[in-house]
Amino acid sequence: MAKSFEDSLADFVDEYIEVVHKGLDSRWNQIVPDTYERHFHDCVAALNARQATLTIEMALAPSTWNGHVAPLFLRCMVDAYITLAWIIEEPVERSRKYVQYGLGQEKLFIEYLEEAVRDDPDAHDSESIAQLVEVRRTWLNSQLAEWATEVNVGSWSGRSTREMAKDIGRESIYKHAYVPFSGCAHNMWQHVGIYNVETCRNPLHKWHRLPLCERHSIHPDFMYRSAKYASLTYRLLDEKLGTTCDVPDPEQFFIEHPFLPMMMHRLANNPTSTDTKLQPSLALRPQFAARRG
Ligand SMILES: [Zn+2]
Repeated sequence: MAKSFEDSLADFVDEYIEVVHKGLDSRWNQIVPDTYERHFHDCVAALNARQATLTIEMALAPSTWNGHVAPLFLRCMVDAYITLAWIIEEPVERSRKYVQYGLGQEKLFIEYLEEAVRDDPDAHDSESIAQLVEVRRTWLNSQLAEWATEVNVGSWSGRSTREMAKDIGRESIYKHAYVPFSGCAHNMWQHVGIYNVETCRNPLHKWHRLPLCERHSIHPDFMYRSAKYASLTYRLLDEKLGTTCDVPDPEQFFIEHPFLPMMMHRLANNPTSTDTKLQPSLALRPQFAARRG
């Protein structure tokens, strides 16, 4: 008996996850640790694993492949890519800045927690907050002497994301991915004005808007983008650190998979979906047109 669509989708996701893991592990095994400049090595480990984690979590939840939530993942992935690509250009100095800034933020948060316990020692949760302070302080101290941690405000890099994207020669990813996804991540009008309101049909009401909370159909294009950003990050290691990998990268796996045409047919053919009207559809991209034709 032929496999159901749901089973095929589950198999596709399983295979995708395997490709993502293999791409991460095989590259990581080729990177020689630098014990004198640990920060850079640690950043490469953490940010690559972060990309892998985000794309895997998104793949596991196809219900998130829609315009309401997919940009939350995607914006975060674009950000991780720009961050790592920027750090790689001046690894020692920039990775230190990145780590130090994060530790400063952690120190600040611990201070807020302590303040809360001091201000209201009899609060029902003061004991659990005190424990939280303990755990977080232990982590912070394991990273660096706490007295050496400065709390900085502003951007960790001293550059805006747009400037960072320019620095790495990828202003286009800032303009075409970071900017539109940020509207969703920050609940800006250009997102909520489209996704979360509808116009009242009573002409006497002068076209005011009504709240709209509706499910959107899912679209594989969102998942395709996640695969693309994970692949961009993996390729950074190949280009800059000389790694190689004989497993297809997530993007290649995605577009060459025999299940893709079926997935497009089943999931992307909803003419009422706001997403398909607003997003450049995967189906319109040349590599897919060829496959489907
Ligand atoms: Zn009305």
